[in-house]
Amino acid sequence: MSVPFLDLKAINDSQSAELDAAFRRVLASGWYILGKEVEAFEQQFAAYCGCAHAIGVANGLDAIMLVLRAWGIGPGDEVIVPSNTFIATWLAVSQCGATPIPVEPVEAHYNIDPARIEAAITPRTKAIVAVHLYGQPADMQAIMAIAARHGLKVLEDAAQAHGATCHGRRAGQLGHAAAFSFYPGKNLGALGDGGGITTDDAELAQLLRTYRNYGSQKKYHNLVQGFNSRLDELQAAFLAVKLGALDEGNARRRAIAARYSEQLAGIDGLTLPAVPSWAEPVWHLYVVRHARRDVLAERLAEHGIGTIVHYPIAPHQQQAYAELGHGAGAFPIAEAIHREVLSLPIGPHMSLDQADEVAAAVRAIVPTL
Ligand SMILES: *Cc1c(COP(=O)(O)O)cnc(C)c1O
Repeated sequence: MSVPFLDLKAINDSQSAELDAAFRRVLASGWYILGKEVEAFEQQFAAYCGCAHAIGVANGLDAIMLVLRAWGIGPGDEVIVPSNTFIATWLAVSQCGATPIPVEPVEAHYNIDPARIEAAITPRTKAIVAVHLYGQPADMQAIMAIAARHGLKVLEDAAQAHGATCHGRRAGQLGHAAAFSFYPGKNLGALGDGGGITTDDAELAQLLRTYRNYGSQKKYHNLVQGFNSRLDELQAAFLAVKLGALDEGNARRRAIAARYSEQLAGIDGLTLPAVPSWAEPVWHLYVVRHARRDVLAERLAEHGIGTIVHYPIAPHQQQAYAELGHGAGAFPIAEAIHREVLSLPIGPHMSLDQADEVAAAVRAIVPTL
């Protein structure tokens, strides 16, 4: 039995009748951009996250960038970001003309270390982007307390964390605003690109609706130099269907993660993800660490088991960020993580039997590495 890393076709096939109906409805409506479907999904997603407002946008990168713009962040400003994250978190800051200031993670949790944030704050610092990496919430209570002391905005990058909770509260309502991606492979994924922002701030929500649509509230009347970053009616209709299966999908992810954590415990040289007592992750990824992870990945592939490295190169070591001048060794925790992590298959497409099979293969292979 082979176990693919992810099987989007199987996931979407499980709701194919409802997705078909959504497509037919939008086709027949004759209205394809910013209409009833986007409005309905925004309301459903805001309610799911426990927020007053949700704003559909074109993708997760835009969701982050638009919030930072709406907060007036631009050239000369600094934004604190995790040293250990997907590149989009940094790109959103750069796209505003601001500088991403990396802060190292808590090694066991992979997320930004609140204890290291204050040392990175300068008079130019305007905001902190806290990423809930791999579906595990960042320590938002500590981060919000630091932000309050320094008058900073906090944006959650919740692109991997739809439904995750921190002290019982859902991602999306933990910062001043939150950015989500609905890229097909995310826990809540469209059948194409999509993104969303949640917030309780009515003024911010209104400004974001303006920014996403050329800077206009009334057609051909432009208040600000905006963007074209809209969620399609079609994707919104699909997302409303997929939102109905999110909790069930996350529950399956949790069951698989529990299986892995139970069956892979105590293997020499293999580090499993640690979960803080106040966090309930949604396991976008189940990430293990091993000094010889490339060999582990190859050997698992020989067993027909798909794995991926999230991510092989830390943002500060990407050629794209050579201009910032952070050399090798500048952020050693992130660098070590990027050298050693490996994501095992996880998702609503997988059975618990498949999880057992993956665990058995890992148990057999690791001692031989
Ligand atoms: C996927 C992702 C993004 C970007 O989302 P897109 O929809 O692909 O633009 C941003 N941050 C993180 C942590 C992500 O995983």
